[in-house]
Amino acid sequence: MSKILLRGMRLIDPATATDERIDLLIADGVVASRGVGIAVDEETRIVEIPEGVVAPGLVDMHVHLREPGGEQEETVESGTRAAVHGGITTLAAMPNTEPTIDTPAWVEYVRSRGKLTNVHPIAAITVGREGKTLAPLAELAEAGAVAFSDDGRSVADANVMRRALQYATMIGRVIIAHCEDQALVGSGTVNEGLASTRSGLSPIPAVAEETIVARDILLAKSAGARLHIAHVSTRGSVELVRRAKADGITVTCETCPHYFCLTDDDVRSYDTSTRVNPPLRSADDVEAIREGLRDGTIDAVASDHAPHSLEEKQVEFDAAPPGMVGMETLLPLTITHMVDTGILSLGKAIALMTIEPARALGIAAGTLETGAAADVVVFDPDGKVEVTADWFRSLSKNSPFIGSTLSGRVLMTIHNGEVVFEEDLGTAHGSSENHGKRAAESNELVVGV
Ligand SMILES: [Zn+2]
Repeated sequence: MSKILLRGMRLIDPATATDERIDLLIADGVVASRGVGIAVDEETRIVEIPEGVVAPGLVDMHVHLREPGGEQEETVESGTRAAVHGGITTLAAMPNTEPTIDTPAWVEYVRSRGKLTNVHPIAAITVGREGKTLAPLAELAEAGAVAFSDDGRSVADANVMRRALQYATMIGRVIIAHCEDQALVGSGTVNEGLASTRSGLSPIPAVAEETIVARDILLAKSAGARLHIAHVSTRGSVELVRRAKADGITVTCETCPHYFCLTDDDVRSYDTSTRVNPPLRSADDVEAIREGLRDGTIDAVASDHAPHSLEEKQVEFDAAPPGMVGMETLLPLTITHMVDTGILSLGKAIALMTIEPARALGIAAGTLETGAAADVVVFDPDGKVEVTADWFRSLSKNSPFIGSTLSGRVLMTIHNGEVVFEEDLGTAHGSSENHGKRAAESNELVVGV
């Protein structure tokens, strides 16, 4: 097992209220110690990057890995390679695969294939995600399901959803609700309003989401259950969650970068990578999402990484499957649109991608306290990322951000104490004289020279 000293960099660990320049020593796969001037032996690799920020490896609680059944779009292996390129060391994988992850054997299969990161399978709430019969939740939890969701659609039958909430609570798991009323969505593909009028594409009203957010909050209250709402996208949803929290209902929620940095105006290009469920919303909704992140109503930023092949997306807008890839742009989009704009501090942004989603899932992750698993990201918040199709390590490239330049460059990702991603030495930047001198010393390797 390797020993690594991350020396003198800015360490941001919201779980321990830490934001200071200190050393972090990794040994035996865990955070061995933190402090100033930690002495090390010569087997220890020393990493010292002046512009580097050290933070807990990111926790992405909403990912589609496509295995089993969609291996041409993504596998657990390719997905985790993309994850570590984005600084993610823990991810939760949605069950809308083929077949559906609704048996203990499939949960075990997905979980065991995660090598580069922790992979926590989310199992289906109902058999085949058909909304009728509850899946064997206790057995699924036993096999390692971290949560339950029929993501991609809501559980339409309120009684089935209520029983799922009661049962999941009994076994200590959270239900993750995809909130869209199918009757109100209909054949819609874009937000109802200017976007649908101008494009002539079929509309999805905001109330399609909000009506189920309201229903599921009420069901969670009546069941005394913990509920997590996936990909909140409208002002009304943010207001419903804010009120529920004020009323003491145990609800958490997430949003995704595309809901705070794109609007329904962006579908104007008919770029099928802007087709997502729920759809991109109005500028007013984006404003509300940003406020919800700022005031703590929204607990987490997740990618909703949804890989699709070029063939699948090279069709008419209405015919394209919804979703965009997102794990690799999660950090840079959040820094560029929420931190660099002054809405969130860097520490708060990190919390939304580490300890907060870990708490929502009830897992031990997202902190660099002494003794915690050494899951770490080192990134340069000001380092530029030029997003090109080739830059993605995901098997799929369906991103509307191709061609943009973002801030927040991942330099190194460490999982269980081992380096699982490291930016090529030749392309890293930010060397200094001091840097070069230290690199010349025998046991030191300085990234960025
Ligand atoms: Zn969903």
